[in-house]
Amino acid sequence: MTGTTDRRPGPFDLSVADLEALLDGEPRYRVAQVLDALHGRFAFPEEMTELPRALRDRLAVALAPALQPLGRLEADGGDTIKWVFQGADGARVETVLMAYPDRVTVCVSTQAGCAMACPFCATGQGGFVRHLSSGEIVEQVAWARRERRVTHVVFMGMGEPLANYRRSLGALRRLHRDLGISARRLTVSTVGIVPGIRRLATEGLPVNLAVSLHAANDALRDRLVPVNRRYPLAELSAACAEWVAATGRRLSLEWAVIGGVNDRAVDADELAAFADALGAHVNLIALNETPGYRSPAPPRAERFRSLLAGRGVNATLRATRGADIGAACGQLAGAPPGR
Ligand code: SF4
Repeated sequence: MTGTTDRRPGPFDLSVADLEALLDGEPRYRVAQVLDALHGRFAFPEEMTELPRALRDRLAVALAPALQPLGRLEADGGDTIKWVFQGADGARVETVLMAYPDRVTVCVSTQAGCAMACPFCATGQGGFVRHLSSGEIVEQVAWARRERRVTHVVFMGMGEPLANYRRSLGALRRLHRDLGISARRLTVSTVGIVPGIRRLATEGLPVNLAVSLHAANDALRDRLVPVNRRYPLAELSAACAEWVAATGRRLSLEWAVIGGVNDRAVDADELAAFADALGAHVNLIALNETPGYRSPAPPRAERFRSLLAGRGVNATLRATRGADIGAACGQLAGAPPGR
């Protein structure tokens, strides 16, 4: 795997010390002004009209965004927005905003591509390109913030956040500290990188954890989520139990309902046992079309939800958003709009 390269750091990769060095020779209050403009409204340097013209020009390159929007698509009457961004090296990532009556959630990518190779996922089918920096992860939220007041952030876009642990953690800390988003409104989604779950439990950050389970027996999960061969269910369950004990936070299990594959009564039995042992909530989503995998008919997903309810499992069937613009779970491929 390659890491991030020696690209110029983006504005959200800079520390306060970096910014002080950049503003050397300026009055001290300029640092606070620039931080306010960046974190409060994600202003581009040319929009920081509180700064003198010459300084704005000087910052134009140093504080230029690390990601450039290649495309922006809307669905659901403007309540779902997908951006395709491109880094300076050409790597592409996607970001999705979903507005609900009570919240605005942004789903960010943590890697360009993904190495986890889940066969039903368009990102996995495309392979791994590179890790995103902390600043590139934060910048996706900042771009969304230029349009809407963002209340929640989920690390559920392209990539596996815990396979890019240090930078994902850095982004969580910055979102919390610099952008003022409560840790309780930040969710990390993982396919089950056991060492990462254990480590996250010790960071003292009360974020939410969502495990993409999709199968609760090893034979099926080995097929749907190949990393299961490395971290099988018993180990995953033990790490999740440690996380719940250490953080006191409720765990969510994500389950993409794949008709005839993981929505049978036996699947409900296995999932109920796994969830019950962890006191976990289950989020179901009907699998979105990707090459080689078909969506189940809507009644099948609802039927699976009632099978779970009959077994005492707290399960929600989430409405899919953005499927018509390729923005739904599992569809993010980093292709520019129109392809
Ligand atoms: S489902 Fe998540 S972890 Fe699996 S290949 Fe897709 S992006 Fe990667």
